[in-house]
Amino acid sequence: MTDRLSKERRSWNMSRIKGKNTKPEMVVRSFLHAQGFRYRLHERKLPGRPDIVLPKFKTVIFVHGCFWHRHEGCRNCTTPTNRREFWLQKLTANARRDRIHDERLTGLGWRVIVIWECETKDLDKLRAKTACLSQVPEGATGQLDD
Ligand SMILES: [Zn+2]
Repeated sequence: MTDRLSKERRSWNMSRIKGKNTKPEMVVRSFLHAQGFRYRLHERKLPGRPDIVLPKFKTVIFVHGCFWHRHEGCRNCTTPTNRREFWLQKLTANARRDRIHDERLTGLGWRVIVIWECETKDLDKLRAKTACLSQVPEGATGQLDD
């Protein structure tokens, strides 16, 4: 029993380090789950390894931290003044990588939804962001083979 607990604890620590299963992500997951949506997590077969994948709706969802992924115009999207150049380069690269993943996913027929960390604190925003899930987009061809 203690071994099992420590194992869970270890994987929890790992998930924290890799930025997966974060609090904002858990908020979105329970929000979707409560509405009856079923999804897959951290799909490594897809570009950018989307946090949440809804194959039935040909939709992937990224839950992005406002700082790390550069939420434009958001008050959490700050740049550290210490080693500013280093941070600017790193954070700009993150945002660029996100755009590339977005384009590749769209090219593969997936609809991409980005939910920002700050939006997970606002139920109305969450509703608005996921409203399009009520219908499968026309011409969507997203495939996920087992
Ligand atoms: Zn934000």
